[in-house]
Amino acid sequence: MPEAGLTQPELRCIGCNATFADPARDFRCIHCGDLLEVAYTVESSPVGAPALETLWRSRKMSLDPADQSGVWRFREMLPILPDARAAVTLREGNTPVYPMPRCARSAGVDHLLAKHQGMNPTGSFKDTGMTAALSVARLKGFEWVGCASTGNTSASMAAYAARAGMRALVLLPEGKIAWGKLAQSVDYGAHTVQLKTDFDGCVNVLIEVVRRYPLYLLNSMNPYRLEGQKTAAFELMEQLDWQVPDHLIVPGGNLANSSALGKGFVEMRSIGLIRTLPRISIIQAAGANPLVRCMKEFGGRRMEPVKAETRATAIRIGNPASWKKAVAVLRETGGACEQVSEEEIAAAKQEIGAEGIGCEPASAATLAGLKNLVRSGFVRRADSVVLLLTGHCLKDPEYTLDMRKPALAIDADPAAVIQLLEASGA
Ligand SMILES: *Cc1c(COP(=O)(O)O)cnc(C)c1O
Ligand SMILES: [Zn+2]
Repeated sequence: MPEAGLTQPELRCIGCNATFADPARDFRCIHCGDLLEVAYTVESSPVGAPALETLWRSRKMSLDPADQSGVWRFREMLPILPDARAAVTLREGNTPVYPMPRCARSAGVDHLLAKHQGMNPTGSFKDTGMTAALSVARLKGFEWVGCASTGNTSASMAAYAARAGMRALVLLPEGKIAWGKLAQSVDYGAHTVQLKTDFDGCVNVLIEVVRRYPLYLLNSMNPYRLEGQKTAAFELMEQLDWQVPDHLIVPGGNLANSSALGKGFVEMRSIGLIRTLPRISIIQAAGANPLVRCMKEFGGRRMEPVKAETRATAIRIGNPASWKKAVAVLRETGGACEQVSEEEIAAAKQEIGAEGIGCEPASAATLAGLKNLVRSGFVRRADSVVLLLTGHCLKDPEYTLDMRKPALAIDADPAAVIQLLEASGA
């Protein structure tokens, strides 16, 4: 069996198709300023589809860290390192798919599953991209990595940088980050700085820093992050025994994740692992809805930044970097782009919690969005639907406690407790 990925693939501009072996530090095309993507060709994968299914499954039994990773297990489709054993891995991926019977009933569909990317090592899907991009940073000999973040990217980057023995700079919007995420970044030893601006302002500062200082940029302009994130599509299909669902519903912030999943599905189709694509729908918070407006007002041709405001901090992004890639995914898969209110997010989060699963607020936007898509007829009752839950319940406990006051203290008296049980049983 040949080891895949012996040649480093080129990066291709999504705007003008120029290709680069060595991209600019900010990962923008030097000709037109657009984003780059890893140019994947069928020839990059030396093994046929049935053999891949068997090979990937067999690696689950292996003791090799690269095989145990739910990202590098799929390395035939991820030819970005000369050797997957050089990867910096925390055994990311391998996240569960749960049936959601009660949420299905309340949304009005027969078959609802949730793939919980919050079950990654640092509690969000960002780990699947970070293992890829940080491994490239180490290969290229960088000492410093950096990101601007609404929280989860920094938690993930800090952990992987620590594993690799590299130094990490985290820029955060002052006061707009969930405590769990901030604590992680500090715990993993990153240089963590809050800037007096929002997320979009942090990105602008970081890009200037990267131009002037040898620091490897790990924001989602970095195309290697999307390469890692696309493997969740492979893993999901393996978990569904290669039966493509009708719908996949994803929250949209900077729009890297939806773009990455779309890329993963298209590549699977190109080598014959699947024949059809799921409709990939993207849900934004109404207060941070630049893609919704881009689609409704400009037909996907133009994106005007908005001033973002939502308590779902992971999707509190007004100027999403990957909007063009996301528009392409919506078009190619026939997905919808919708917004949901703060109340709808909070109600959906409560329902996901009541399944014994839980997630962070941004993830709950998927269920809230599904309800709207069922109401509008875009999703039909018999359709199979998968929600992508992006972050762990413990990321933002403040949100939960603010939304739903826990029970008041009562007397330490069994009779009082039994009275409570009887009252709630009635
Ligand atoms: C990053 C993140 C998102 C948004 O993903 P994008 O790729 O920025 O669209 C959603 N939910 C959680 C929990 C996240 O960490
Ligand atoms: Zn270009």
